[in-house]
Amino acid sequence: MPRTTPPRPLDVAAVFPELVGMSRTATRLHPRPGSPTVHESSVGGPLLWPAGEPWASCSQEHDAPFELNTPEEVRTLRRIRALDVWTDEDHAEVSRIHAGHDPALLPKGPHPLIPVAQLYARDVPDLPFPEGTDLLQVLWCPFIDIEDQPGTESVQLRWRRACDVAEVLAVVPEPAYVGTYELVPVPCVLHPEQVREYPAAHDLDRELAERIGRWTDGSLGHQDDLSVAAGWKAGGWAAPFTFRDSGGPEELRCRECSAVGEPLLTLDHTEWQGETSSWRPVEEPQGASAAPTDLTVGRGYTLQFYGCPTDPRHPPVTVMQ
Ligand SMILES: [Zn+2]
Ligand SMILES: [Zn+2]
Repeated sequence: MPRTTPPRPLDVAAVFPELVGMSRTATRLHPRPGSPTVHESSVGGPLLWPAGEPWASCSQEHDAPFELNTPEEVRTLRRIRALDVWTDEDHAEVSRIHAGHDPALLPKGPHPLIPVAQLYARDVPDLPFPEGTDLLQVLWCPFIDIEDQPGTESVQLRWRRACDVAEVLAVVPEPAYVGTYELVPVPCVLHPEQVREYPAAHDLDRELAERIGRWTDGSLGHQDDLSVAAGWKAGGWAAPFTFRDSGGPEELRCRECSAVGEPLLTLDHTEWQGETSSWRPVEEPQGASAAPTDLTVGRGYTLQFYGCPTDPRHPPVTVMQ
């Protein structure tokens, strides 16, 4: 089933002509639980990884893992949570999983990263692929605060040409434990859809932002309904900063060449909710979960990767906002 964003309730550029010319496209990914293969774009799915290449790993020490669960326990937890009725055994199992394991069990040395997303160029027209590549893979360490940790291996991007992967890695390493299930996305297939966006307030000049801020049309809000799409997406405009000020362009500069980063990939806890419910796709069945990936960064913040406009191979800056 495709996913279609309802038309915006009105064209904000017709109300504020200054916005004409500031629209950009973004590709909403619309992740939904499924069984993606290595040949499909996915969130939390298997990666097209060359058999001869070492799997991405992190060698940082992790002193304070919060819950310490095995990946199998994370899968069990989700299987039980999806049940309508829990047995006594289910309750006991969930309590046991939430109690976690002794941090002393955590093996020393590098541990494998986990797949976050795999995106084929054919599915994501708004992702700027480096020359000669058509596949982006994102992995991270399931122990950290994902927010930018310069120079660490905790978030890794791999740009590939899919046809270069002659033999796919058969046995994929998994970490013995994860620090929290909230950093392990549910395997999802994608239903990409291109949408049009306008800048959020922090990307506008102050006077215009204030005028737009004072303006409402009934229940419509610029930030929630008329500017930036909710949920997982590639490209487009920066998500609104919800719990802190934008540090401005300085914060988003590429560490290799100082160019100001552009939104590359946006990860969100929910695809729509409350104020952003106008982004709920028209096909979405009654009762569908608004948090299909079950991924939570911080307290449900939006995580945005800002890519380098000069060279997409430069490591992105990651910001919780
Ligand atoms: Zn790590
Ligand atoms: Zn750069």
